[in-house]
Amino acid sequence: MQRLTLAQRPTRRLAKEHFRLEEIAPPRADDAFLLLRTCFMSVDPYMRTRMQPEGYDYLPHWQAGSLLSGYAIAKVEESRLPGWSRGDWAVGHLPMQEWVAHEGDGLRHAPPGAPPLSWLHPLGMTGFTAWLGMRLLGKPGPADSVLVGAAAGAVGSIAAQLAREAGARLIVTAGRKDKRDWLRGIGFECVLDHRAPDFDAQLQRAAPEGLTLDFETIGGTSFAAAIEAMRPGGRVIVCGLISQYQQETPRRAPPNLNRLGERGVAVIPFVAPHYEAHFETFLEEMTPRVTSGRLHWRLDMVQGGLAAVPGALVGLFDGDNLGKRIIAL
Ligand code: NDP
Repeated sequence: MQRLTLAQRPTRRLAKEHFRLEEIAPPRADDAFLLLRTCFMSVDPYMRTRMQPEGYDYLPHWQAGSLLSGYAIAKVEESRLPGWSRGDWAVGHLPMQEWVAHEGDGLRHAPPGAPPLSWLHPLGMTGFTAWLGMRLLGKPGPADSVLVGAAAGAVGSIAAQLAREAGARLIVTAGRKDKRDWLRGIGFECVLDHRAPDFDAQLQRAAPEGLTLDFETIGGTSFAAAIEAMRPGGRVIVCGLISQYQQETPRRAPPNLNRLGERGVAVIPFVAPHYEAHFETFLEEMTPRVTSGRLHWRLDMVQGGLAAVPGALVGLFDGDNLGKRIIAL
């Protein structure tokens, strides 16, 4: 069977050469309580941060030779663990290999009643992140002018809809025309291109009275533009800074970061793994939005099994994906 390891750490841009696909003997049914067959694997920007030599310490770093891992959906093929039966769907953080011998720790049964692949997106880590940022931390309401970057991506698309549902005025951004068309198609009226050279001027025009909430996913120049547009007393929810993940350390903060202090803007960074205790509440709130069809969510499914992971992950940093990128094994 195949597994995917890191062949060497990237120093700047991630490339397919940094990965190694290996052939190893499959696990046996009696190696652990559960024998799982991996069916779908999520690829996510944080994977690049795990390859950095320092910083981003909320998850262990990957070294040359490390077996990669990620959120996945697997089928239970054999079980000696109470509560799990052959044929069950399991969701969890799994090693990137086709078969996994697993003791069951940290595995969840897929939530009943929702489409299976929602477990890797609106009812999985990306939906949870959007929910934390908007429902738990940012809490936008009708008085808010909210900016959501990379809003045709996984977290951004859900975060933007949660803010809109709460009555806020939304400015959403995406770096490609088809992505902006998709956002208009799901009802967003103010859609900008964060990659445009005059993005800062576009943002000032779109929010002449300023932003009260920036849901930051990108960093770099578009974050600098958002900072300029912040109204005094606003808040920045720092969800991610994807434009910085391929930078050699030390990474650079936007040069106008001090403006946030001058204007009394609250800066609230968060990482989802620190909020596990809220996961059940998140599921209770979000499952009806998914099962009713009220929430728009889109998958960017890549075929080709583990061999497709390197190209799919590299592509996230070029903006190749529209929606949540997932690998079918
Ligand atoms: P997406 O599905 O949004 O995919 C990434 C998108 O980011 C790309 O499609 C592209 O969109 C944009 N992008 C990539 N590289 C750059 C760049 N150099 N400059 C500008 N834009 C870029 O990914 P996710 O939804 O999974 O993640 C979005 C953000 O949320 C990331 O910053 C991620 O790290 C963060 N995150 C944070 C979590 C937390 O716990 N705090 C958990 C999960 C994600 P476009 O084509 O529109 O430019």
